[in-house]
Amino acid sequence: MNRKHEPTLCFPDAEKSCFACCPPIRTAGYEHIQYKNIIKRILRENTRAFAGRKQGISPITGYSCWALGYLDKEYRLVGCLLHPSRNKGEELRYRIDYGEKCKRESCIESKIFMTLSIKERKFWLHLADGFDSFSYSSATINPLFHIMGWGPSLLRLIAMNEDLNSFSKEFFFCKYIFFHTSLNPRANAYLINQILKKNNLHLLKSESFLRKFEVFSEKLSEQISKAARQTDDAPYTHLLDLDHLFLNFLRLSAGLAKINKDEACRLKDIVDQDIQQFKKTVRDEDEIISPGRPALYPQIETTEVKCL
Ligand code: SF4
Ligand code: SF4
Repeated sequence: MNRKHEPTLCFPDAEKSCFACCPPIRTAGYEHIQYKNIIKRILRENTRAFAGRKQGISPITGYSCWALGYLDKEYRLVGCLLHPSRNKGEELRYRIDYGEKCKRESCIESKIFMTLSIKERKFWLHLADGFDSFSYSSATINPLFHIMGWGPSLLRLIAMNEDLNSFSKEFFFCKYIFFHTSLNPRANAYLINQILKKNNLHLLKSESFLRKFEVFSEKLSEQISKAARQTDDAPYTHLLDLDHLFLNFLRLSAGLAKINKDEACRLKDIVDQDIQQFKKTVRDEDEIISPGRPALYPQIETTEVKCL
């Protein structure tokens, strides 16, 4: 945990930590939890050996880093034994091959997490209540890695809507059906952030909205992919000076890795118009679920899930 006890995604509390990105070079799809018992033994050995280890540079061998160990006596927190926070402020990660990479890099999710207020961070950390460091470090088990991709505005809106009250992971996913989607959050964050506002967050609890959104997202992504005029000398999409959520949509949803700014702006107009159209159909649906109002479009089925 950091010194001020401000939660980060890497060090959320005294029960667990994330060590998913250690060491920085790993095979695709690798997760420490797949080899939990072996890794636990290695971590104990690393921690014991670290104190007696000679100073000097010693490269990482294979996919295991000798500086990854336990940070507490209870063997709950896993982290870097060369980190300045462990060494009276002295940066010792130069002692491995990837030292610069270790210092420089952090995952996108941890950066998004840090844009939230401390109260909002604590709110979202309830999704990982009860996890140990191995489950917490697993992107397939820890929903925070997925949820962060929807972007800070939506995360803030939900936290406000829940008055920052604590909740269980089960309760959250039962209530907010939308997050059952298999859509890539970062690819779709622009669309959902354009649709949702403080007064229509209830749509996230509607199964029919989720289905409609998934169809909308898929069709729009195909449409934009086909409509795009690309040239070989265009700059990389993510480097353009435009809304980065929209650029993520272009790259990750429509598959446009390179594009000129003018063309990106033209496509944005198309996307924004389609979003406005989609919002109208959602408003129609909203009429049906508003209590006490006549069903204007009874052919659209809406399911609200009640969570105890
Ligand atoms: S994967 Fe992300 S959250 Fe986990 S330790 Fe690395 S930077 Fe931190
Ligand atoms: S030096 Fe530290 S940060 Fe880098 S891979 Fe090893 S344990 Fe992780």
